[in-house]
Amino acid sequence: MDAILMMDNLFGTIHSSLSDIIETAPVGFRSDNRFLNCVVEYQLKGTGPGDTEKNCLSVLDSCMNIERSLGRKNSGPLFDSYGTRIYKDRPIDIDILFYGDAVINNSRLTVPHPRMSEREFVMKPLSEIAGGFIMSAFPELFESK
Ligand code: AMP
Repeated sequence: MDAILMMDNLFGTIHSSLSDIIETAPVGFRSDNRFLNCVVEYQLKGTGPGDTEKNCLSVLDSCMNIERSLGRKNSGPLFDSYGTRIYKDRPIDIDILFYGDAVINNSRLTVPHPRMSEREFVMKPLSEIAGGFIMSAFPELFESK
């Protein structure tokens, strides 16, 4: 909840939806720790089409600042020598799942988030709060597998 309060503060608006918070086992690495997952939605102003990528990068910067202030340290590489993502225990992980109906691919950001549809711990809370707008913009992400 600390991260959500900090996002409310930084974005200057209270989140518009929040899913249930679910407890899950780690995915992609071994740990005795459990994780708390939820999906939160914001209605952000000033997201004109020309500035979408820049605005979304600024949201990413805000999220990474919150992660750092909650004790996240990014040490070591993100990928191994085979190009597989390396996951470790972490106190907080904020991902941008969607940014309206934008499709963004640059060196820092991929939106919609590329791995969300494989992750039950994302799709379950997401499907609780995802509105028809997101479902019709990206129907393939919500098709049951
Ligand atoms: P993570 O360990 O999941 O917090 O990943 C952080 C890295 O993923 C950062 O270096 C981001 O630049 C990058 N990244 C790419 N796409 C996204 C996204 N949609 N949401 C959050 N981080 C992203």
